[in-house]
Amino acid sequence: MHMIDKDVNKMMSPLACNPAGPKSQVVASGDVVSFPEEIILSGTVIAGEEMLALEGYVVIKNGIIKEVSEGRERGHFEGIVCPAFVNAHTHVADSIAKDPPFMDLADLVGPGGLKHRILESASDELLVESMRFSLAEMLDTGTCAFGDFREGGSHGVDLLLRAQEGLSIQSRIFGRPLKDPEDVHPACWGVGLSSTRDYDRGFVDDVVRIARKNGMHIAIHAGEAGRDDIEGALALEPDILIHLSRAERSDLRRVAEAGASVVVCPRSNLFTRAGLPDVAEMLSLGINVCVGTDNLMINSTSIFREMELISKALVRDDRQVFMMCTINGARALGMDERLGSIDPGKNARLIVFDRNSRNLRGSLNPLASVVRRAEPSDIMLRI
Ligand SMILES: [Zn+2]
Repeated sequence: MHMIDKDVNKMMSPLACNPAGPKSQVVASGDVVSFPEEIILSGTVIAGEEMLALEGYVVIKNGIIKEVSEGRERGHFEGIVCPAFVNAHTHVADSIAKDPPFMDLADLVGPGGLKHRILESASDELLVESMRFSLAEMLDTGTCAFGDFREGGSHGVDLLLRAQEGLSIQSRIFGRPLKDPEDVHPACWGVGLSSTRDYDRGFVDDVVRIARKNGMHIAIHAGEAGRDDIEGALALEPDILIHLSRAERSDLRRVAEAGASVVVCPRSNLFTRAGLPDVAEMLSLGINVCVGTDNLMINSTSIFREMELISKALVRDDRQVFMMCTINGARALGMDERLGSIDPGKNARLIVFDRNSRNLRGSLNPLASVVRRAEPSDIMLRI
């Protein structure tokens, strides 16, 4: 992709890479290429919020999608044109300590667990640098927006904002108060809570009440270590539930009735042996299901790895899986008016795949190939 970025610069000079601030050297590959006034991308376009493949082209003007049409048009780039990914659940600060020994969920992320011990002892500088590398990795692997659970109170959120400075990735930050339920950074879009079983109930109720009063959204882990915390989570009337890998059908019906979005994180669930979520049932109930890579200690931020796993193990429907990784996440994070699909008027955050790469050449179905086998190395251009 580096080469392609250089080619873009050559072809459309003068183009500027987005300045990444003082740490630009360490995250240079995470920069996004800005482009001239008008650019045309052609080939197989995965168009609209329904992700329907059409042979055609996309016209982009000043960073906004102006036209999506069928038919032949020679584009500046030709390939498989897709919307960029939305990673709906991360803990980017966990990237300071990757690949711990296999261990139980409680020992890894529970109160007093390895994750929290490491985070507490880490310097601010190390946390900011680690998060910045992770955001660059997200950009490299085609993600344009993410929803992050940021622990550490307001100060923790300040660190993430520092890490994100100058990078063309959009975030929705879910803060987590430490002791004072009012301690939620004003830049947060919501509060992101651990399981209800990890807190005193009065504290959780206060956090949620205050967050609602301030117009913030509520997201919470539930149904991961067991299904016993699902009822308590639903009582908070959350906007987003994370995991639900242990949920039974009756739980999912209640989630559907509540109208909450669900973020599934199957690779994380495999590591922690939390079971795999019944994504097919969630979709059949009409739940807005999105995808998150979750804890960076145990997972890379690459949505490609989640897509392949979900499509082969959980839902044999490429279009639905791709929607989970794009528009559904944008919807859950309140970004769908600007991101998540290739529609006129939306921001042009797109990926063009090289259909003649060694990995994709011979594809019978471009969308299926993107979902089931594509790699970051197949990306020809991302904007
Ligand atoms: Zn999580």
